[in-house]
Parts: sequence; structure tokens; C-alpha cells
Amino acid sequence: MNNRQLFLRHVAQLSDAPLGIEMVKASGMYMWNVDGKKLLDLIAGISVCNVGHCHPAVVKAIQDQAATYMHLLVYGELVQSPQVAFATLLTQHLPASLDSVYFTNCGSEAVEGAMKLAKRFTGRTEIIAFENSYHGSTQGAMSIMGDEEWRNAYRPLLPDIQHLKYNTWEAIDRITERTACVIAETVQAEAGVIVPQQEWMKALREKCTQTGTLLVLDEIQCGLGRNGSLFGFEQFGVVPDILLLGKALGGGMPMGAFIANKEIMWTLTNNPVLGHMTTFGGHPVICAAGMAGFKVLLEEKLTDTVRAKEALFKKYLVHPAIKAIRSQGLMMAVELESFATNKKVIDACIEKGVMTDWFLFAPQCLRIAPPLIITEEEIRFACDTILEVLNTLA
Ligand code: PMP
Repeated sequence: MNNRQLFLRHVAQLSDAPLGIEMVKASGMYMWNVDGKKLLDLIAGISVCNVGHCHPAVVKAIQDQAATYMHLLVYGELVQSPQVAFATLLTQHLPASLDSVYFTNCGSEAVEGAMKLAKRFTGRTEIIAFENSYHGSTQGAMSIMGDEEWRNAYRPLLPDIQHLKYNTWEAIDRITERTACVIAETVQAEAGVIVPQQEWMKALREKCTQTGTLLVLDEIQCGLGRNGSLFGFEQFGVVPDILLLGKALGGGMPMGAFIANKEIMWTLTNNPVLGHMTTFGGHPVICAAGMAGFKVLLEEKLTDTVRAKEALFKKYLVHPAIKAIRSQGLMMAVELESFATNKKVIDACIEKGVMTDWFLFAPQCLRIAPPLIITEEEIRFACDTILEVLNTLA
């Protein structure tokens, strides 16, 4: 059996129609398949490889730390310099109120940690989440998932969860002194890039403060430069009580984090019951990788050019088949007629050397969320390819 057959036989697949392309190498903006074909990456492993694939600084940091020490003990017991350095650097770039970092293995685990923390800190149980949001695949994250059909497949879920309409004033009215936390994506990603109004975000922040409810902003997908600022919330003039990071946080390695004020975070570590245990969260090798990736983001000033690159995509992507483009920075949803149309476009783009896909809750939208290092020529090539494919549809 070849690798593709072995994949189908022994590797559990995400869906009944996986892409199933065998990849052998990736570097910067590109990945190569087993036949030597080069693909320009427009999705960055779903907003993971913000600094590009296998950035030399990230690779070196991994190699160095792996040769020094790897796993020593469960999270939060020993002083491990890669963890300390990364948490310190992150908090230096965050508002003073977000000064305590809990590193996790992935985004979903950060979501779990945040929900547990909010319950413990407030002594309340109600959690408010939003329709069309995606926060992960663990049972708790699934309970706040914004799609009823998905939730129905896994009942019973966590109780006392309200799913409200994102970016609406009614939702804000529903927050009360019973509410432990509101959990929202700063910009809804899998919904097809829904950017809320700034006034709404501010009112949400205000109502949470009034009611003693913690505001949890999930920036697992939109954070770390992608939106045109280091953190998404900066675009809205609000600061969350708990910030969730993931995806790009590990520089291409698996990592998440929930970040809060030390006083809030302390409730989780306080006796008599421990709050959140993780064997591998904050793994030294991954902290080293994340730290290297974060430094690249800062040193190469990748965030500074995001908005200009977004504008270039929008300038070039003009075609009658494109119904709308929703975006904030390099997180863009190109809306087409239907999923069937989109799927044809995606397959043809991949065939022509451009890697893209669709959004979970907006399958009619083509995803453009490349590594932030994409150049003007690469943007031009990507757009020309998409337009060429769209022309063949007519
Ligand atoms: N929140 C958001 C906004 C996400 O996009 C994702 C992943 N797509 C998650 C949470 C879950 O992250 P992970 O897959 O690392 O558990």
C-alpha cells in the first residue's frame, strides 16, 4: 500500500472527503506534494503559520531546547526558563491587567480553562456564547459551539449556556448578575469572517463590567497579528478579562493559552481543589518555538503590513462571481454563490498551485488567511489564479 492508501486505512480522518494530498515539505509561503508540485499557502494551516512554514528561527529554537530538556513535570510546578521567558514577553505586549498566562496544549483546552476559571472566580454557572461561533471540539467547547445541529449530536452538554446572536443589542441585554462569563470570538472566523461593530464590543465590555461578568475573548484564530494589530481586541478599544490564544501561538507547534489578571487566575490554583491540570501544557520545546515565532512577528514587523496586504487582495479580487468579501486584516472570506461553486473553485485553485479551503459555518466562502509574510507578487499570483478559475465557471 502507498502512503495515501495507508492514510485511508490507518489514520482517522476528519471527514468522509479529506483532501488526501501527500505533502512532503513546507517552507515560508509554500508546501510541496509528493510529486514535487509547489503550492502557495493561502490558509496557513488555519491561521497557524503566521510567520511562514518552518521559519529558521523557530526551527533553531526547537532544536536547541530539545537538546537541553524536554518534559520535566506537570505544568506550573517547576521554574522552566522557556515558559518564563515566553509568558514574560507576551505579558509585556499585553495590557497590565492581562499579566498571568496559563499555557495549554491547544485552543480547545484554553477554552475549557477559561470557562472553569470564570465559574470558579464568579461562583456563577451561566455562560453566554454566540451563534455561529467555533471554540473547539472538546465537550465543553462543543457546548458553547454556535451551531445547533452539531450540539444536538453530543447532548447532554454543559448546562446553563445561552447562545445569542453575535453583534446584537438584545444579546447585551441578556447579560445579568447570574452570568459567569460571555465568551466571544473578537472577530468570528468560521462564521465567514464577521467583524462586529466597535460600539457593540464596547457595550459588551461595559455590560460585563457592570454585572461582574468576565468577558472572554477568543482570539485563537484572529489574534497574533492577523487582524492588523498584535491582538484583535486592540482594534475595538476594549480589553477582555480573559484572553484566549492558540493556533499561531506555538509558531507552528501545538499550543494555546488563557491569559487573565493574576488575581482572577489565582482562584484556579487556590485550595482546596486544584483548577486545571495539564501534563504537557507549556511544554518547554513548544514555548521556545512560540517565543521564537512571536519575536519574528515583532522583529519583522509583520503586523504593520497586514492592512496593506488586505487592501491589495481586495483591489485585485473583483469579479461578478464574487458576492462579497468580508475581512479584517489577513482573515478574509470571499463569498461565492454556493458551496458547490466554492468547492469547484477550491479544487481548481489547488490544481493550479494555490492552497485554500472554505469556512466551517460559511461553506460558500473561500478562505484567504495566508502566512503574514506573503509578498505583493504572491498576492497577485493568488488573485490571478482565483480570477482565472472564476472565469472558467461562467
Ligand atoms: N477557537 C477558535 C476561534 C478556533 O478557530 C479554534 C480552531 N479552529 C479553536 C478555538 C479550537 O482550537 P484547537 O483546534 O487548537 O483546539
